[in-house]
Amino acid sequence: MTVRRYAVVGGGISGLVAAYRLRQSCGPDAEITLVEASSRIGGTLRTTAVGTDSLDVGAEAFIGRRPEVPALLAELGLSDQLVHPSSARPLVYSGGRTHALPLGTLMGIPSSAESVRDLVDPEDLHFIETETARPFAWTAGSDVSVADLVGSRFGSQVVSRSVDPLLGGVYSGSASSIGVRAALPTLAAALDGGAANLTEAVLAALPTPSPGPVFGGLRDGYAVLLDALVAATDARTVVGAGVGEIRRESGGWFVDGVGRVDGVVLAVPAPILGRLIAEVAPAASQAARNIDLASSVVVALAFPKTTELPQNSGILVATDAGLDVKAFTLSSRKWPHLEERDAVLLRASLGRFGDTTASDRSDAESIQIALADLATVANIDAQPLAATVQRWPGGLPQYASGHLDRVAAIEAGVADLPGLEVTGAWQRGVGVPACIASATTAAARLIEVAR
Ligand SMILES: Cc1cc2nc3c(=O)[nH]c(=O)nc-3n(C[C@H](O)[C@H](O)[C@H](O)COP(=O)(O)OP(=O)(O)OC[C@H]3O[C@@H](n4cnc5c(N)ncnc54)[C@H](O)[C@@H]3O)c2cc1C
Repeated sequence: MTVRRYAVVGGGISGLVAAYRLRQSCGPDAEITLVEASSRIGGTLRTTAVGTDSLDVGAEAFIGRRPEVPALLAELGLSDQLVHPSSARPLVYSGGRTHALPLGTLMGIPSSAESVRDLVDPEDLHFIETETARPFAWTAGSDVSVADLVGSRFGSQVVSRSVDPLLGGVYSGSASSIGVRAALPTLAAALDGGAANLTEAVLAALPTPSPGPVFGGLRDGYAVLLDALVAATDARTVVGAGVGEIRRESGGWFVDGVGRVDGVVLAVPAPILGRLIAEVAPAASQAARNIDLASSVVVALAFPKTTELPQNSGILVATDAGLDVKAFTLSSRKWPHLEERDAVLLRASLGRFGDTTASDRSDAESIQIALADLATVANIDAQPLAATVQRWPGGLPQYASGHLDRVAAIEAGVADLPGLEVTGAWQRGVGVPACIASATTAAARLIEVAR
């Protein structure tokens, strides 16, 4: 039997999972090469030192109702790493003070004025209350930005104080840079189904409360999962050398830096995917290049054990609050397993799509801004024992209006290229569970074609 050769381009969770699935399916003889442009494997997953402690400085959690991460941990013998957050709730900082994060919302979009009563001014509350009485038009199948839809029906304060803080956390974007259809599919379905107004659509789209925990995490950070995947995949790993070209060659593919392979999975950010497939799939390439990326910065801080944090899991910041930090994760409050650590740990996140926070500021400036904003929102003015700055240039794709059409165009454009599969955070959701699912599908398709 001839030995099959595969290349996986991109060493984030998507590429790693694709490579691991290829190994599982093809057995020990297959030659699998994982190529990563940067100097380390993991992409936007990274666990790093903050003083004498360690903390995730990219993704730090995953959606608990999705099965992919717990299932992968179980496969790799890591189920004891699975942890869940405390019951502490987040706050929103707006109008010079903190408020409880509104309940009963769909990604911050209220289903009634009641849930945002504490957060928006009386005029905007009245605007929400009377929404059902105003004429409403929606064309089935259409798409708009979340800001356009919610702003026009509920007013701008709901957008900047309730919706933006949540979308800023998931996409490093805002309601203006994110579209309804890709980010809020149940809302789009309710609107397509003929909801008479936004209030009715939100009520129909709210998820049924699930009994399990909303989020999960890893006791020792995502590094444990990355290490286990690398070991189980047993691939030849090339780091520090990005793939610049792929082309079809003698019934397979030529991958720059790897040579001829039977199949290749491209697990790189969308604009880079667009460059790599420009020759072989021009229409898909153009669609991929039209997906924008947002950059962000995480400042991880360790404070003396005596530092008093609010009894909350985090503080989200309204986009009209005039601060630079978009959110604080109060890690030592959010995660019970971190309470036992030597220091009080928290993370400040800065940078949204369209701003230059991630590129313009030095590490020292980012730390100063994080500390100044922390003093403003939580009255903490202690000096940190340690601070670590992690930049994520182009770390998250923007699911802008029309995103699903772009994804469909990419997938259609590569569908008739046997031995080439594409995956990544641009495809079926930016969260780690969605990336694992998409990468698993990509690897399965590659194996299917090889049969
Ligand atoms: C700050 C932050 C916080 C987040 N928090 C959460 C969270 O709490 N929960 C959650 O579920 N998700 C979270 N996410 C999202 C999630 O982490 C990412 O969407 C996911 O990890 C993306 O994985 P990926 O492999 O698709 O892409 P990436 O991690 O971006 O990996 C792509 C890799 O491709 C490499 N590459 C690029 N070009 C080339 C080339 N030419 N050749 C070879 N390699 C190349 C890159 O260097 C990179 O390592 C967060 C993201 C960020 C940025």
